[in-house]
Amino acid sequence: MRLYVLGSGSRGNCLAVETDHTAILLDAGFSAREIERRAELAGLDLARVAGIALTHEHADHACGAPRLAQRLRVPILTAPGTWDRLASGMGRTAHQAIGLRVVVELGPFRVEACSTSHDAADPVALAVRIGDGTGVGVAYDLGRPTAAVRYLLQNLTALVLEANHDEVQLRTSGYPPAVRRRIAGSGGHLSNRAAAELLAELHHPGLTVVVLAHLSQRCNSAADARATVAPALRRVGFGGALHVAAQDVPLPPIDVIAPGRMQLGLALGL
Ligand SMILES: [Zn+2]
Ligand SMILES: [Zn+2]
Repeated sequence: MRLYVLGSGSRGNCLAVETDHTAILLDAGFSAREIERRAELAGLDLARVAGIALTHEHADHACGAPRLAQRLRVPILTAPGTWDRLASGMGRTAHQAIGLRVVVELGPFRVEACSTSHDAADPVALAVRIGDGTGVGVAYDLGRPTAAVRYLLQNLTALVLEANHDEVQLRTSGYPPAVRRRIAGSGGHLSNRAAAELLAELHHPGLTVVVLAHLSQRCNSAADARATVAPALRRVGFGGALHVAAQDVPLPPIDVIAPGRMQLGLALGL
């Protein structure tokens, strides 16, 4: 399984997971054209995309979805309330509902979702698994990690988790108090410290990839997010790769391999 992080932040989010020549996009928060440009830069063939799953309707997660779904002729997967907001702009694009206890199969992927605490119509976190048990979880725009989110994100091989702001930088950011309250509140965004705590809790021997995402440009930096999260992961014995998503450029593709298979790969010299 391969994870593409085409970009993440308050100005756009787009990820993709690929296996066996099939891919699924997770959020499409750049223009269709920009997603095409970034996919090419990252080496992702969009012709392989079988569907687009959206976490919620905010523009930084969904703005490119209508056009891209039409161009690629693929369905859109969202929670029902998100589709209510988006349907009028979607033309004849097909829709599949995702949610708790609903497992949608899309080619080789099994897509599950659960509600998140965020100020959108029907926001969700996502988990995408394939037949060998490898899986990627995505949770951002997360006011607080609920029990449902903790449950959904268990036992995944890779986690893409929001590390939005440094709490001190947010307090001294110059944002008006109401904006600061919204960001730090239960409908807002997860801080570096909260991300570190959640990751330490979710850690298990099969977790090999962590990507910190949706960093605030004003109240965070890649170095600050890493400095908070890396020690927390080290303390619980995480031996995998820690990446930080960027807003403006895609990350190089990330191989997501279950630990048992990694050892087999090393033994075979792969
Ligand atoms: Zn967002
Ligand atoms: Zn949002």
